[in-house]
Amino acid sequence: MTVSHLISLAEEVERYLGDPHDPSSRMSYQRILEHDESERYPHELVDVLHEWGLHTYLLPEEWGGRAIDVEVGFNLLRLVARRDPAAATAVMLTDLAFMPAWIAGTAEQREGFVRAITDGTKMAWGLSERHHGSDVLANEMRAEKVPGGYLLSGEKYLIGNATVSDVVSLQARTDERGGPGGWSLFAVDKRECAPGTFEHLPRERLHGLRASDLGGFRLDQVFVPESSRFGEEGRGLEISIKGAQVARISICSMSLGAVDTALRLAMDFAEQREIFGRKVVEIPYSRRQLAECFADLLIGDALCTEAVRGLQGNPAQASVFSSVVKYFVPTLLERTMAQTSVVLGARLYLRDHPHFGVYQKMMRDVLVAIFADGNTVVNLKNIALELHELLGTARDPGEELRAGAEKSVGLLYDVDAKLPRWQPQRQSLFSRGKDDTVLAMPDGIERLRALAERQHDPAQRRWYLRSAEVAQRLMGELDRLHEGTTRLKQRWGKEYSTSDELFRLGEQYCAVHAGAALVHLVTRSADVLQDPMPDGAVLLLCLERVWRQFRSDEPVTDIDVIDRVVEVLRWQHSEHRLFSHWQFRLRASSS
Ligand SMILES: Cc1cc2nc3c(=O)[nH]c(=O)nc-3n(C[C@H](O)[C@H](O)[C@H](O)COP(=O)(O)OP(=O)(O)OC[C@H]3O[C@@H](n4cnc5c(N)ncnc54)[C@H](O)[C@@H]3O)c2cc1C
Repeated sequence: MTVSHLISLAEEVERYLGDPHDPSSRMSYQRILEHDESERYPHELVDVLHEWGLHTYLLPEEWGGRAIDVEVGFNLLRLVARRDPAAATAVMLTDLAFMPAWIAGTAEQREGFVRAITDGTKMAWGLSERHHGSDVLANEMRAEKVPGGYLLSGEKYLIGNATVSDVVSLQARTDERGGPGGWSLFAVDKRECAPGTFEHLPRERLHGLRASDLGGFRLDQVFVPESSRFGEEGRGLEISIKGAQVARISICSMSLGAVDTALRLAMDFAEQREIFGRKVVEIPYSRRQLAECFADLLIGDALCTEAVRGLQGNPAQASVFSSVVKYFVPTLLERTMAQTSVVLGARLYLRDHPHFGVYQKMMRDVLVAIFADGNTVVNLKNIALELHELLGTARDPGEELRAGAEKSVGLLYDVDAKLPRWQPQRQSLFSRGKDDTVLAMPDGIERLRALAERQHDPAQRRWYLRSAEVAQRLMGELDRLHEGTTRLKQRWGKEYSTSDELFRLGEQYCAVHAGAALVHLVTRSADVLQDPMPDGAVLLLCLERVWRQFRSDEPVTDIDVIDRVVEVLRWQHSEHRLFSHWQFRLRASSS
């Protein structure tokens, strides 16, 4: 899908949902907060989204849905999440529960589910169990083979859409010994379960996403026919991991949406509030805070752009970019929210405030991306496990690999480039030491220098050149990280993968990857992004934020950079644009 098509679709949904500050709009903050306060599942809001057809953009076109490119569904969810992460999650969960059918289902399953979901069937994804959390290979739910099908028994706990769902996709043990080939996935249609065999667990009360339907279920010899199994017996783990790669990326739309609203509210406040004789937005310290929050959103935006496009354009490396994005974006944006809070001050505490009341909800809701769909630490561990190999390749990839990476980066980061059809079954479980975003970094830096030379404005040229320097230094950190993993391997031997220091190196690798993603997006999409993007000062501040992961006290930007970034931010805010490289026009009022 072209950028202009995506933007027009995004603007269509915004127009349909209306200004969230207007209580009479279809999806207003007032109504959203009523659901949050009363902890009622947002049926009416989900219905509004269904009426527009949002869920169909998450279902493959070839079987009757309207999804062609993953980035469309992702960005639509992000726009819903900027209003209500609870309603966005409710819709997303059905999509995630459908993933096993998309990855490994029969034609009948795929078409059947697409039809049913289009008509309003809700689904839940049942992986987690009370006693095992991230250790899914210890899960206990069993599927006992019987003539014509299976008998499922066990419990799933902390499951979204637990009671409102009609169908649940479940992971169960088909081999007593477990192990990688010991799991299978099944669709259980609750409406077809024999009486007394399927029981809902009590709903949990939540800190954030209070309107969500989080609970669980207990199955006691639920019969499911063989035709309800997704893929061959024993493929459950592989299918779950591929589905999880998608889920990890999708959930980041919650972080981006929630923090967009947080920054928008902070800007509304900063533009209006006068203190000590001037507006908050004119106070130097506040300006830096706001500019940095904007930069953080753009870092998340760049990483998510890579990841959603990567599912189609680079499925062989899905294990790396889905883990990088899931570790880096929610962790970064949770901290960003603490920074927008500093600007907003006391108003963040006012639950009933007609304009700022939704802020406290976003503060709570944003946390969901930290643990759902794979805890932060689990994602960091995924990186850690591949880290030594990734760094080894990055040190000396050879010409062929480097050229391949540059080509692949061209597809991922030129947001107008046409992507191949999404085939989630092609996603790999391991990237075999390859991370094209990092491998193509030298080329990205060269392109950045060339972009600098094309600037007529001397300040822009200076900022782009400085950005290239910072990116070069970031890339230089790869050698140090490689020395680190080599040393750890020597010191820890077989225990290497559990060392806490390895996780720290993994965090820093993600930061280098984020810096590379920014450089690629700006250079490869420079001609497609609309004014005022790309911008040298904005890029430089983004890279400073990343660089701070290595040298927290080393200044990269000066007051001129902050002034320019605030200028861009104020323009996007006053023009009601999403805080993104994409220029989506939003429905938003600021007072
Ligand atoms: C709002 C909400 C919605 C949810 N929706 C669903 C759903 O729809 N479907 C579903 O199946 N589940 C769902 N869950 C469950 C959730 O995904 C799991 O609880 C989570 O993935 C497991 O992580 P945990 O935080 O419970 O931590 P645990 O797995 O219990 O781990 C505890 C701690 O141990 C550490 N740790 C964990 N693994 C490692 C590791 N490999 N290496 C080192 N340290 C580690 C981490 O610090 C972690 O915080 C939901 C949970 C919530 C709260």
